[in-house]
Amino acid sequence: MRGFALSLVLLLAACGSSSVIAIPAAEWQPSSPALREKAREFEQVSRAVAASAEKECRRQARSANCDFAILVDLSSRAPANAFQTLDEDGRPLIIFTRPMIDSTENAEEMAFVMGHEAAHHILGHIARQTKNAKESARIFGELARKQGADDAGIERAQALGAEVGVQNYTRVFELEADRLGTKITHAAGYDPMVGMVFFQRIPDPSDRFLATHPPNAERVEAVLQTARQLGLR
Ligand SMILES: [Zn+2]
Repeated sequence: MRGFALSLVLLLAACGSSSVIAIPAAEWQPSSPALREKAREFEQVSRAVAASAEKECRRQARSANCDFAILVDLSSRAPANAFQTLDEDGRPLIIFTRPMIDSTENAEEMAFVMGHEAAHHILGHIARQTKNAKESARIFGELARKQGADDAGIERAQALGAEVGVQNYTRVFELEADRLGTKITHAAGYDPMVGMVFFQRIPDPSDRFLATHPPNAERVEAVLQTARQLGLR
C-alpha cells in the first residue's frame, strides 16, 4: 500500500502526528499559478466542510471540541496523505499534504476525503482505538503471564496485543467514517458520488495479507448505501 493516498491516509488517521509543519488553508499561497488555483479551491472546500462537520459534531455531541481546523502540511518530502489528529488543547485538526491536494481531481474529491477525516473525530475513533489497543494488550499480557512468560515475554505479548487490537477495528472504523463522511460531504454542498471516485485511483488493499483496511468495493457500497438513505440516488 505504501506511498499513495487513501489507504495510507486511513492508516494514519487515528495516529498522532508529531513532526508536521502545517499552516491553515487560508494562509497557503503557493508560487506556481496552477497550484495557486488549487489552493483557492482547497480553502473554499475547507470552509464548507469544516462548517458541515462542526454541525454534525455538535448534533452527535460525542466530542467536546467541534472546532475543526483544516491545515496544509508544507514538509517538502511528505507523501500524498491526509489524516486527523488533535492539538494539545484537544482541537480537531485535519491535515492534508501538498501531494495529497495535488492528487485530488476536483473539489468533490477534496471534500470527500476531508469529510471522511472529520468523521473519524466526530465518531471518537482515536479514543476508541486507544482503548481497544490497551484492552487487547492487557489480555495478551495476562495470557502470556499465565503461561509462565518472563517480563520480556509479557512485554512482547502486550505489544502484539496492542497491534491486534488496533487492526481488528480499523476496518470497522473506516467504513463508519466513509458513511458519516458521505453525509458531511453532501451537507457541505459537494457530491459524495463524484468524490468517491477517488477510491478508484488508489490501490485496493483487499489483496494484502492481514489487510487492515476494507476492500474498495466494500467502501463504495458503504457510500452508496448512505447516499440512498440521503435520497441522492
Ligand atoms: Zn479513515
